[in-house]
Amino acid sequence: MPDIIQLLPDHVANQIAAGEVVQRPASVVKELLENAIDAGADTIKLIVIDAGKTLVQVIDNGKGMSVTDARLSFERHATSKIQKAEDLFNLHTKGFRGEALASIAAIAHVDLKTKQEKNQLGTFIKIQGSQIVSQENIAANIGTSVAVKNLFYNIPARRNFLKSSTVETRHIINEFQRVSLAHPSIAFSFHHNDSEVYNLTAGNLRQRIVAILGKKTNEKLVPITENTDVVKISGFVAKPEFAKKKRGEQFFFVNNRFIKNAYLNHAVSSAFDGLISNGFHPSYFLFLEVPANSIDINIHPTKTEIKFDDEKTLYAILRSTIKHSLGQYNVAPVLDFNRDASLDTPYNFKHKSSPSTPKVTVDPSFNPFKKEEQKSINFPFKRETSNWESLYTGINVENIEVESEAVNSSLFSEEKSAAKTYQVHKKYIVSSIKSGVVYIHQNLAHQRILYEEFLENCTVRDAASQQLLFPQEISFSKTDLNLIVEIKEDLENIGFLFGTFSNENIVVTGIPVSITESQTTIIIEQLLDDIKNDIPDTSFSQLDIMAKSLAKSLAIKTGTKLDAKEQEEIVNKLFLCKQPDVSPFGKKTFVTIALEEIDKNFNN
Ligand code: ADP
Ligand code: MG
Repeated sequence: MPDIIQLLPDHVANQIAAGEVVQRPASVVKELLENAIDAGADTIKLIVIDAGKTLVQVIDNGKGMSVTDARLSFERHATSKIQKAEDLFNLHTKGFRGEALASIAAIAHVDLKTKQEKNQLGTFIKIQGSQIVSQENIAANIGTSVAVKNLFYNIPARRNFLKSSTVETRHIINEFQRVSLAHPSIAFSFHHNDSEVYNLTAGNLRQRIVAILGKKTNEKLVPITENTDVVKISGFVAKPEFAKKKRGEQFFFVNNRFIKNAYLNHAVSSAFDGLISNGFHPSYFLFLEVPANSIDINIHPTKTEIKFDDEKTLYAILRSTIKHSLGQYNVAPVLDFNRDASLDTPYNFKHKSSPSTPKVTVDPSFNPFKKEEQKSINFPFKRETSNWESLYTGINVENIEVESEAVNSSLFSEEKSAAKTYQVHKKYIVSSIKSGVVYIHQNLAHQRILYEEFLENCTVRDAASQQLLFPQEISFSKTDLNLIVEIKEDLENIGFLFGTFSNENIVVTGIPVSITESQTTIIIEQLLDDIKNDIPDTSFSQLDIMAKSLAKSLAIKTGTKLDAKEQEEIVNKLFLCKQPDVSPFGKKTFVTIALEEIDKNFNN
């Protein structure tokens, strides 16, 4: 037998390594930004075209590379950041694997331009699929520019696997936010296609958070600081009343590196125990500084997970620090010496009755059927046949109580009621059907009804809208605003009307008839959160996510008492749906219990 083992050529090995390092354009963004930071840059520019599918370029004013280093930087395991294994336990740089540039160059067209201060000329290297195409001396600014074009050009399967531009852009924005939050003293800008997404000047953390998440964030922040031998904690949490339904704004940085850690996240949440309601999550921007040798960041190739030596102690310190700060904040205004006066409300506005964000109160027992009669006839369904009929045909009107409470006296009464349904535990609508009994989950069923209604409205484009007497001005961060602009048409299709869009505000002039004015802000915010977090694959499913999000926000909740007419309406509409048996999120909307099943219990 001849020998069969061969060493893989470098470019193949690099392609394989690239699979680990580069999952999507956002991974390139992360690696390039981190290299720029490691190079000591104080100004970093990110340019992206087509969600990174056409171009990701990072330009920095860092220390640059010599001619030899420029060439070497594309070799695998070529790094200036560690020399021996022990260095791994004392890392002060973002990178250390020496894999990023080699991997990226294996699966893209890369142009590297770099110049060191001491040199007259810089180096320009063109490399495609690990092959150097050209190298020359050129005039260049101090620092480095790496342009990554046509990512995955030679791996069509990976390229085809990329998600829609909305999704890939969202990933890029996430990376950009993480990196720029961790380094407020570095100026960052970010251009996508022809528009400027961010232009962040150097400043302190509060300024950076506000620049990224919008001015209204400023008043939400409670500073956190603690110094112990084990850990130094700094940063901010958002006041409990600004907790979010999605985990959007939760940032942990350990030694200035963004990490995810469910255990520490739990520590923060538990500090908010009793202050925020179930299902809501606190926002936080927390920086932990621990000795470099007490963590192991090497357990995950993309390095967002981390292992601590003493997690339990960290947990306890983190929890009590936040509790303490929240307590302080509750009793007295916080003394925050970092506060940037330019972000404070100007004095003459302070005592005016607030024209700012309207106060949002959500009525948990909100019942869209209750508000106005007209709302309940707004369903667009006019189908003649229905699944419902097949379930119901052949039954007589039964003797069923309409209300669950005070059942006893009338349950056995002779009186025939015309109602076919009744409600139990303010949660289920129960009705007798041909084959037995059906239990309908009122909340999940209503979600299904609203979901199909929204989708139908979006496609028929004639959703009913109610004009607001006083248009609402709502402020958003720049990225959220961009997202709203993107989905504006869909929002209009379901009944929202908009006035002017400015840099920070939108003016809502009309809302769908099915929602109330006070819900407007929270519903739009929830919608943005859902779109950002669920990350749709296609524009069709973006619409789908909107419909789901709105259906979930607006469906009558468990715990809401429904009168006979409302129950009936849900039942009828549910079974006119195209897919009545599951909620938009795939949960059962009703169960049936066959008569034989019930009979069995009595066959003794
Ligand atoms: P790592 O960052 O893990 O060392 P990379 O492949 O990302 O590996 O980079 C390889 C080397 O190239 C780095 O160690 C660094 O010396 C050099 N390098 C990369 N990007 C830059 C940059 N923007 N400025 C200066 N040097 C850089
Ligand atoms: Mg690197």
